[in-house]
Amino acid sequence: MEQNYITLTIGKQKNIALIAHDGKKAELIQWCRDNEEILRGHFLCGTGTTARMITEETGLPVKGYNSGPLGGDQQIGAKIVEGKIDFVVFFSDPLTAAPHDPDVKALLRIAQVYDIPIANNKATADFLIHSTLMNENYDHNVINFNKSIAERAQRLK
Ligand code: PGA
Repeated sequence: MEQNYITLTIGKQKNIALIAHDGKKAELIQWCRDNEEILRGHFLCGTGTTARMITEETGLPVKGYNSGPLGGDQQIGAKIVEGKIDFVVFFSDPLTAAPHDPDVKALLRIAQVYDIPIANNKATADFLIHSTLMNENYDHNVINFNKSIAERAQRLK
């Protein structure tokens, strides 16, 4: 019988997504500067403006997706679903409403569904980046979606 969960591995070299709302961009750029050496050992991507600013300010290579308000958060969520992003640092701004708040909520939810480490503030990001697990493979259990689809298709007939 198929298992309810499958084991996926977050590799030693993480695929890290970097996102910051406008009021938090300077803080994330400084955090990238402070952790530049560690970040150089991983693959980096981010929403359009954040990615470009980090590259310009630190020299770190950050692959840019679309800008957040234009669907960038959703692109990053889709990459999590595809298993291509496995670590997120997202400095969201809790004091400012944004037009793409639903996309932000969707990204947080999908990271939770796929058991992806996600830091929403500097302290969490500091604890994550200095974890010994940053240099190790990490096995985690994720819902077996094939089984879930097969069961739902059967049950909803
Ligand atoms: P940006 O998007 O990096 O293009 O500014 C981030 C966001 O607002 O979600």
